[in-house]
Amino acid sequence: MITHKNISIFFIFILLILNLINLYVTIHFLWFLGIILLWIGINAVGSSLISSNYHVKAYCNNSSETEKKIAITFDDGPSVYTLEVLQLLKKYNAKATFFCIGKNIETHPEILKQIIDDGHLVGNHSYSHSKFFDFYNQDKIHKEIIKTDQLLEQFTPGKINFFRPPYGVTTPSIRRALKVTGHKTIGWNIRSLDGGTKNQELILNRIIKRVSPGGIVLLHDTGAHSVLVLEQFLQFLQQNNYQVVSIEELLNLKAYAN
Ligand SMILES: [Zn+2]
Repeated sequence: MITHKNISIFFIFILLILNLINLYVTIHFLWFLGIILLWIGINAVGSSLISSNYHVKAYCNNSSETEKKIAITFDDGPSVYTLEVLQLLKKYNAKATFFCIGKNIETHPEILKQIIDDGHLVGNHSYSHSKFFDFYNQDKIHKEIIKTDQLLEQFTPGKINFFRPPYGVTTPSIRRALKVTGHKTIGWNIRSLDGGTKNQELILNRIIKRVSPGGIVLLHDTGAHSVLVLEQFLQFLQQNNYQVVSIEELLNLKAYAN
């Protein structure tokens, strides 16, 4: 399996062998440079693809699901748009999972309460969602996770079990922090990229093309365009007899521990 550990062992081994050969036959330094650059490249791709399981095991779908069940997840809230999202979910009888940012819970605790009251699930999406989160050390990441858990747990029936790393990027420090906290990492296999574009047609077509049983969709409850796309998406799912279920049901994992 291509994991951070295996790749590190492999490349250290290759570099040692090259060093050994270099004692007898001179190897051009470009070979060393090329191998190190390839190593860095694999690390970069592995860190940025949550489904690669490179640093952390992430649940990105349920490939054994045969029924037309799909899970929708919303990142980066709660925000004022979350209320519109909740209304739509109610209208289409859909259950979703919200990955919340700690500082946004502090701003909108009443919206978080509404999410829970409506029967949806919540998970941890860091406290700051900082652009530099991937450069934080284990201790700083651990503190952010704990702080956000505490904010969420004021409203949930148990301890938070789900975590989604900001930007879906994982690092050795995040892996070590999660080893201590014991959270399950939840990824996705249907990304809308609604954070990057406001073109509704583009976003909708992108997700519709990828819909299949057991899939996990990533949307954001932070913009008006995402809300408009959501309504069309929910209509599409209804017309195609898809049931929108929670992550708990789709993955058979508990969102909250006792
Ligand atoms: Zn996010």
